[in-house]
This record gives sequence, C-alpha cells and structure tokens, in this order.
Amino acid sequence: MQSHYPVVIAGGGTAGLTVAAQLVETLDPSRIAIIEPSMHHFYQPLWTLVGGGVFPKEESRRDEADYIPAGVTWIREYVSAFEPDQNRLVLKNGDVLTYEYLVVALGIQIDWDRVKGLREALAERNGVCSNYSYDTVDRTWENIRSFKGGVALFTQPSTPVKCGGAPQKIAYLADDSFRRSGVRNKTTMKFFSGAGGIFSVKKYADSLMNVCRRKGIETHFQHELVEIDHRQKEAVFKKLADGELVTVRYDMIHVTPPMSSPDVIKQSKLAASTGWVEVDQFSLQHVRYPNVFSLGDCSSLPTSKTGAAIRKQAPVVVQNLLAAMEGHPLEAMYDGYTSCPLVTGYGSLILAEFDYQLAPKESFPFDQSKERYSMYALKAYGLPAMYWNGMLRGRI
Ligand code: FAD
Repeated sequence: MQSHYPVVIAGGGTAGLTVAAQLVETLDPSRIAIIEPSMHHFYQPLWTLVGGGVFPKEESRRDEADYIPAGVTWIREYVSAFEPDQNRLVLKNGDVLTYEYLVVALGIQIDWDRVKGLREALAERNGVCSNYSYDTVDRTWENIRSFKGGVALFTQPSTPVKCGGAPQKIAYLADDSFRRSGVRNKTTMKFFSGAGGIFSVKKYADSLMNVCRRKGIETHFQHELVEIDHRQKEAVFKKLADGELVTVRYDMIHVTPPMSSPDVIKQSKLAASTGWVEVDQFSLQHVRYPNVFSLGDCSSLPTSKTGAAIRKQAPVVVQNLLAAMEGHPLEAMYDGYTSCPLVTGYGSLILAEFDYQLAPKESFPFDQSKERYSMYALKAYGLPAMYWNGMLRGRI
C-alpha cells in the first residue's frame, strides 16, 4: 500500500467527505487519502425524526463508497495514533502513513460507559432508548409508540454533545405522539439536563421554555444522569450544584449519553487540555502544527457541534489548506456559524442559527424563534436532499 499522500483526511464522516469533495475541485484526487473504517455513512440529523417514527432508520444510511470522490484513495481502517512531529499516523493494522497536510475529522466519541448500567439497560430493551446510534435509534420509536402512560424521562449530559438541541427535540415529538395516542393525560414528562438552561441563545431559549410550559414538560437543569437500574426502572441523577444524588422512577427514558473527543485524539499531541483538536477558531489551522487542520465535532471550535456548522467550516479549511500548500497567507475565516433545527412537534420547528457571539444569524426574512411548519418541512425533506446531493458532493 502507498504510504505517503500529500493530503490525508482522517475520518470520512460529514466533515471529512465534505472537505474531500471540495478539495478535488482543485487538487488531483490521487494526492488525497481518506481514512475511514465504516462501510456506511449516516445522515445523523435524521435520527431525531427516526426516533419520532417519521422515517425508517434505513433512510439515514448510504454506502460510504458512493461518497468518496472519484480518484481519492479510501483506506478502510482506524487511525490508532497521531504522530504530528513526524507528520505521520499509525493505523490499527500497524501500517504507517505519512503526509504533508492532515485534516482531522474523527467526529465525537459517545461515552456509553460513563452512565453506570446504560449499556446493559439498552441491551435489555426495557423502556430505555437512545437516538445516538444507528443500532439504538429505532428503539426510541418502539418505546414512544407502545407507551401506555406513566413517567417519561429525557436526559442531556453536561458534556458537549452533537447537536445541542437534539436531546429536547425527541421529548417534544414524544409529547405530540402521546397526545395522538391518547396517553398524554396519564403521563408525566420530565427533561433532565446537565446544562444550566434549555438553550445557549436567549432568543431561542425563551421560545423553548414556552414550548415546555405549553406542553407541560417539567425541566430540571444541572442534573447529570449517572446511573440506570433497568430492573427497578430507576434513573439516578447527580445535582451538579451540590453533588446530591436524586433517584427518579421511570416507565420510559430517552438517554443522551455523555460525549467527548475520541480517545485517539485525547492521547495525541494534537489535543488541547480539553481533549479536542486544538485549532485556531477562525482559520481552523492547528495552533502548534501548521500543516494540520481540523473541523467538525472533534475540533476545539467553541460553537455548537452540528453538520450545519461543518457546511460553513469546510470551505474555510479547504481555502486555507490550499493557501498553505502555496505558501500564501491564510485568509478564510470561520465566524462560529451553527444551526439547530429545533423540532417542537410533528409539523413545527424553531430554526436556531447563531455564531460565536451567540448572536442570531438567521437565513430567512422572518422571526425564526417562532414555531413554523415551513421550517419543519425544510428539516424533514429539504435538508436531507441538500446534504446528500449538495454538501457531500462539494456543491454547497
Ligand atoms: P461524523 O459525521 O460523526 O464522522 C466522523 C467519522 O470519523 C465517522 O465516519 C467515523 O467512522 C470516523 N472515525 C471515528 N474514529 C475513527 C478513527 N479512529 N479512525 C478513522 N476514522 C474514524 N446536525 C445538524 O446540523 N442539524 C441537526 O438537526 C442535527 N441533529 C442531530 C441529531 C442527532 C440525534 C445526532 C446524533 C446528530 C445530529 N446532528 C445535527 C449533528 C451532526 O450529525 C454532526 O455534528 C456531524 O455529523 C459531525 O460530523 P463529523 O464529520 O465531525 O463527525
């Protein structure tokens, strides 16, 4: 196997594929390698609607091979070590790869084991579900559809997560579904979050708190899920203010597990003290290794981790990487733009869009903090098509 490429992209998910698709517009594809172990690529934003029973999970999955740009080398392996001082990385099979430029796009790591009992609880299918993997996402709809009333819990950890709004979206869909099936009046719904509030941007947070009040969903902030006992159907939360443990009985629970930077990054010299790849927040260039760039969920960029953010980050990485190759100054800048389509029910959505300053940066000429059908239709039907046919093809 060839062991040197001018450009190596570690991770062929949303960020890696988008960068590759844009790079081949300028670079000869034979100069690029993508390291990606998975045979499939997933459009994860659909998992909220899969969990809500709107789409089958298969709609979110396509063959990875169909999205590796023609002529780019696909190395189907895991990166097991980064050695940026030597401009090389080691693969799980022991092969060593050297590069001139590296783009790190490994996504976020789901730390299932940081909640005691969670893995066993998910395996038992006893009222416990999670939208956060392809394997478990259909379990969410099974639970919501068959719910007969009682206590329904929804959790969000205090760690960064992919798509900060997703943990609450599924609670809103569940509420809507319970009303349709006639069980809502015998159901108590509670949203427990390790965060200090419902959303980081005040304009949208105000609307979302109104949604919770209207729907009768109790909110408990600064509560971190630490344990699940699926036999007793009990969830244990740690109050972050004083460490007190609170046990809550449930009939169903949707868990958003804690997340962190992938271990292979944490253990490398690429990591900041937080574990994320330490890049300049504007140029997306590594702060110590100028031939390394990073974007997406694994990067240290202080903004909400979403595919929408990557749509704006990728052109900055591509433009700056090409400039670096030519010895030119890096002029492209990322402003922290991110977006979160907050589904508030079947047919309603608040489209949050904002930047590093947490200032709204809206695309439409109306108040996006209001729930709208048009924005729901955009999420359910418009954005998936734009993703598969546009973003991953390097077109937007
Ligand atoms: P990923 O797309 O996860 O890709 C990382 C890739 O790296 C994977 O293909 C993986 O196989 C690979 N990899 C991992 N480890 C290694 C290794 N050691 N070596 C080589 N390769 C490796 N975003 C939105 O914009 N809007 C939404 O509405 C939205 N909703 C969401 C709802 C849910 C339930 C979820 C789970 C996510 C949602 N997101 C949403 C977030 C969005 O999906 C992610 O932010 C985005 O996919 C991150 O892209 P990435 O390339 O950084 O990571």
